[in-house]
Amino acid sequence: MVMPPDEPKFDDLYKELILDHYRYPHNRGVLEKPDVDMQQHNPVCGDKIRLTAIIKDGAISQIEFLGQGCAISQASASMLTDRVKGLNLGDVDKLSINFRDMLKGGKPDEQLMQDLMSLQGVSKYPIRIKCAVLAWDTLQEALGLK
Ligand code: ZN
Repeated sequence: MVMPPDEPKFDDLYKELILDHYRYPHNRGVLEKPDVDMQQHNPVCGDKIRLTAIIKDGAISQIEFLGQGCAISQASASMLTDRVKGLNLGDVDKLSINFRDMLKGGKPDEQLMQDLMSLQGVSKYPIRIKCAVLAWDTLQEALGLK
């Protein structure tokens, strides 16, 4: 199997942000007594993501991830945990829909996307889209949003 290149030539600033999350992932770990605990993998690239989260009053109060795989998948998971912490499930769904739409080439809501804009370049590399959405797939599955 041919592995896809790990560092597509995105805009330098964005690429730096992706690599920064990859090297120094945020919210890395496994929560004790989580309300949700979900794992998924992307067989094309070998990426794995496990998410644990604690849900309080309909919102994500804590979330951590463990994973391995390419920079895109791990950076996306790290950014996801940053962004969804504190959000209610409706807002998580909205964010997820906008993110997926961006990866399919749609025009993103930049204020909503914030750091996630750095992954917009992935839309030009169809084989990598699964890498970028893996953490989101895992979260939606865990929350029963899909
Ligand atoms: Zn990947």
